[in-house]
Amino acid sequence: ELQFSSAVEVLMSYYPHVKKAIGASEKIFEYVDRKPQVPPDGSLAPQTLNGHLQFKNVTFAYPNRPDTVVLKDFSLELKPGQMTALVGPSGGGKSTCVSLLERFYQPQEGEILLDGKPLHSYQNQYLHKKIAVVSQEPVLFARSVKENIKYGREEATDEEVFRAAKMANAHKFINDLPNGYDTDAGEKGGQPQILVLDDATSSLDTESEHLVHQALQKSSSRSSILLIAHRLSAVEKANHIIFLQGGEVLEEGTHTELLGKGGAYAQLVLKQNTAFQRNAQERAEKEGG
Ligand code: ATP
Repeated sequence: ELQFSSAVEVLMSYYPHVKKAIGASEKIFEYVDRKPQVPPDGSLAPQTLNGHLQFKNVTFAYPNRPDTVVLKDFSLELKPGQMTALVGPSGGGKSTCVSLLERFYQPQEGEILLDGKPLHSYQNQYLHKKIAVVSQEPVLFARSVKENIKYGREEATDEEVFRAAKMANAHKFINDLPNGYDTDAGEKGGQPQILVLDDATSSLDTESEHLVHQALQKSSSRSSILLIAHRLSAVEKANHIIFLQGGEVLEEGTHTELLGKGGAYAQLVLKQNTAFQRNAQERAEKEGG
């Protein structure tokens, strides 16, 4: 029960983009259970945030595998209002960057700066409001607040949902929403300055993915966007693309620059296009015969 209400608390602190709750609420429980490895809460909570994010020469190993360096001298810059995409093979370290951004871990070397100040100098609550991590599950846009709270605990009664929300001091807040507990979780209610789009769990086809992107961008037109692309679709329009492999930046630039370079990114694009064409051809042959 306690865990359930902490989950609600976590969920509400990320409202309205309702963070990863969604699509993967077991993740909430994972987070709630996770022991913080970060220094105590900071005090910064500036009224305006430009959304300028920098990873500066970050080196990181997970505490449970201290000998395996996951990020090596890794640098990233996301300028205000722009989009930076992280691409590269599985295990390259993309999700790890997000975990560091969410302060689940602390880099051993280097620093993460938000508007030029260390991430850890900000209040956690503030960061939760300003940085939204969204897994691109369509469910995010379809479910009500109540359904999101219940997610992963489908047997929970309304009473339990209300009680959990009350314990998390979220009941009044939810009741004040336009449609209370039935409010669509995708509705706009705040403005994160940094939006992290993670397509890890995405089961969307490219076209719906594009629509989701558009919707998100529209509702957060002034946000900086960090796109974690486990697949390549939608990366093209990023202002900057970083190809991460084995925890290191293999190459970076715009889509056009990287294609021109004919390196790892270009090969990946080629491979995906070939696979796409092969599928289309097979489909055409099936339909024809
Ligand atoms: P994918 O595209 O498959 O999601 P990724 O680029 O996001 O991959 P990460 O998930 O960041 O890669 O993984 C980078 C490395 O860190 C991998 O070797 C992985 O096994 C390791 N790793 C990830 N999470 C943990 C963890 N909680 N504890 C220890 N090692 C981890």
